Amino acid sequence: MRLVLLGAPGAGKGTQAKKLIEKSGIPQISTGDLLRAAVAAGTNLGKEAKSFMDKGELVPDRVVLGMVRERLGQNDCKKGYILDGFPRNTAQAEALDKMLETLGMPLDSALSVDVPFEDLMKRLTGRRTCKSCGQMYNVYSNPPKKEGACDKCGGALFQRDDDKEETIKKRLDVYTSQTAPLMDYYKKKGILKSVTGVGSIEEIFSKVCSALGC
Ligand code: AMP
Repeated sequence: MRLVLLGAPGAGKGTQAKKLIEKSGIPQISTGDLLRAAVAAGTNLGKEAKSFMDKGELVPDRVVLGMVRERLGQNDCKKGYILDGFPRNTAQAEALDKMLETLGMPLDSALSVDVPFEDLMKRLTGRRTCKSCGQMYNVYSNPPKKEGACDKCGGALFQRDDDKEETIKKRLDVYTSQTAPLMDYYKKKGILKSVTGVGSIEEIFSKVCSALGC
């Protein structure tokens, strides 16, 4: 499986990617996660990225492309990859195509997870992540059993800095103007599939699997 996951922030791409990993063992490459790790580690790249992320803007293509190129070149990607949150604009999509051609592992599918815009704000403001294992929750739709603690490992839950209301608005604007046009990009290539990202995580996952034939 060589897959790009498309969808607005809060559409549930990360959650579905994690379920696909459990099922197929194929690595997820989330540029958001890679960037947050660089920020946490305090690297130069992380410092540069943080100023853009805090404003809800896209990190420069040069930074993200370098990170993705390095990750795709690692051995575990030979069996496939799930790109989550990348590409985010047409320039990244074109650069990705070139990179994959060179590596000899072109995309099979681009899967779009579609969620009505009015649901996204609630999903994003309610989102919480476990500091220890990365498990995701939503205080409205999928709360942990004990407030503030992860059901799986007991780790502390936190809210991402960019999941605050003002930043979310900006991220959704950036999605509409820069990322949504990628649907057409992949449609023209004949590899676009779509599912509605509404319902329980399991219901959506079963739609994802039928769309991908996995
Ligand atoms: P995400 O976790 O995918 O919602 O990403 C969080 C933030 O990281 C975004 O709002 C951007 O600032 C940055 N980011 C993640 N992926 C990319 C990308 N492919 N290109 C540029 N910026 C990105």
